[in-house]
Amino acid sequence: MRQSSFLKRKFREAAFISRALLSTDHVVLAHIIPMRRCNLACGYCNEYDHTSNPVPLDVMKRRIDKLAELGTSIVTISGGEPMMHPQLDDIIRHVRSHGIITGLISNGYYFTPDRIKRLNEAGLEYLQISIDNVEPDEVSRKSLRVLDKKLRYLAEHAAFHININSVIGGGIKQPEDALTVAKRAVELGFSTTVGVIHDEDGTLKPLTENEKQIFHAVKKMGNKDHARLNWFQDSIAEGEPYEWRCRSGSRYLYICEDGLVHWCSQQRGYPGIPLEKYSMEDFAREYKTEKWCAPTCTIQCVHQVGILDNWRDPQMTPVQMRKEQKQKERLGQMVRAD
Ligand code: SF4
Ligand code: SF4
Repeated sequence: MRQSSFLKRKFREAAFISRALLSTDHVVLAHIIPMRRCNLACGYCNEYDHTSNPVPLDVMKRRIDKLAELGTSIVTISGGEPMMHPQLDDIIRHVRSHGIITGLISNGYYFTPDRIKRLNEAGLEYLQISIDNVEPDEVSRKSLRVLDKKLRYLAEHAAFHININSVIGGGIKQPEDALTVAKRAVELGFSTTVGVIHDEDGTLKPLTENEKQIFHAVKKMGNKDHARLNWFQDSIAEGEPYEWRCRSGSRYLYICEDGLVHWCSQQRGYPGIPLEKYSMEDFAREYKTEKWCAPTCTIQCVHQVGILDNWRDPQMTPVQMRKEQKQKERLGQMVRAD
């Protein structure tokens, strides 16, 4: 079963990459949030609460239908902790019913053999778990020691692909933990990526020599699948800005629990338009809009989507876009006057 799922997944991946390279008129990746609530409270996180209710299934289905209308290739279900949503399997089934590739980001706490089998049956294709340290501390309990049993269940029962992400930088106490986490991931047959994070005050500082060595060692271990695409991290590790074209609001969408479209989890509020009203005009505007936060951005999945279009269609700042719009309007008035 695992081998045939692997081949099907590879075929579907090749198909979505070819489609994304041939045309820019559709969404490549959307993150949807069915559950803002989380069972944990990581010290660095601004993406959870402890009180909100799950988004009702019929509302989630309507949002997924709209994403299908926008031609979305991949939907990743995120949170909060999406495993706390009581109808997560139905959400996954609904995404798959549109032929969309389906992924999940979870903190890993809720995986049991039975739960994993139900996710297989629902058609989940990708899972990412971030593990921050080996031993839990006051900042994070996403820890190898706590999650190792869950990882073993996943290795034994999951038919979907699993990626384990570790983190480095930002004052993480034990950078060596990233290497321990990555080694364990590889041992269990998973892929592995490493995220470089900003310093506590949000600034971009170069990694220390020790952190750099660990970063390159972990990167080498994860040198397959999408881990290959994280070139931007080499600049970020050196504390240097990276030049690229962020296509969020267009080729990448972040849909919050209220159904609003945002650039990404860290730039919520822009453009802040309800998904049901999101038009191809919004899509085209955001595709062309240069994002002020791009040079220091560390969000891996949006960088990976950006690679598909980095070589085409230069972007403009919002001021340049307004200027161009005014010129077009003036030209229109002159033509009408003639
Ligand atoms: S598990 Fe994830 S969503 Fe929950 S607090 Fe930690 S980082 Fe945030
Ligand atoms: S550049 Fe990064 S932080 Fe800025 S909108 Fe794009 S993904 Fe979000």
